[in-house]
Amino acid sequence: MNFFSPDTLELHNEDDQLEQQTALSYLKIQKDGDHWLVSETDDDGVAHPYHASLDGCDCEYFTTYHQPCRHMYRAAMKEGLFKVVRTRRSDKLIADFTKGYAEGWKFIVRPSNWQDLDILYTPRRKSKQVSYVWTQGKCYSFTSGSVFYDTMDAYTMPWGEALRHITCSLQIKESFPTEIVPQVSLENGILTNRTHYEYSIVKFDLYRPDAPKEHECLAGHYICHQDKFVELLKSGAFVDLEGNRHNFFEEV
Ligand SMILES: [Zn+2]
Repeated sequence: MNFFSPDTLELHNEDDQLEQQTALSYLKIQKDGDHWLVSETDDDGVAHPYHASLDGCDCEYFTTYHQPCRHMYRAAMKEGLFKVVRTRRSDKLIADFTKGYAEGWKFIVRPSNWQDLDILYTPRRKSKQVSYVWTQGKCYSFTSGSVFYDTMDAYTMPWGEALRHITCSLQIKESFPTEIVPQVSLENGILTNRTHYEYSIVKFDLYRPDAPKEHECLAGHYICHQDKFVELLKSGAFVDLEGNRHNFFEEV
């Protein structure tokens, strides 16, 4: 049975099968008669070769479950019947941080927030040389307890004085991490594994200084998705979970 015809789509989206489709580029492959010889290298550097085709493989996974294994996915890749597409992280960051915060954003976002913004120090291979660079992804995941003010004065001035300059601040009460979800679909007739983000929710409170500018007061509870929270930090406006638009700088 050819496990890689277009009518097998459902099978490739089962959890166990999606797991077999990860890190395939680490498997070495070469033609061996009417089969493929697919080698897996273990942690001790020992290579384990398997004989794979579109119909089967002699590894433990296939002989136990009779479902496509990593080696078969690798073979299908080589034969142009299966593809894994990953979005490349960008070298261009979401904002200019040369001043120590995201320039032009409504709220102060600093390098201490980079992990939440999916700015990571990642390896880049260039002609076999590996170097590390800061790269931008879109897996935004802000965490509870984070606080954002709309002016650097909140960080540099004594609190009593800073209160006179703050328009509003945000405090995250609860949040759930964004998930990267793989899915196989047919693209031009080829089984293609692509990932997308499922943005989870951020629950946060809005605070504003009181009239005499002596204290910060709770001004509202809000819930939105992680990607909308980035919009809020950037522009001061966002769409909440129910689809209502808010602008914290127009309501003053
Ligand atoms: Zn196998």
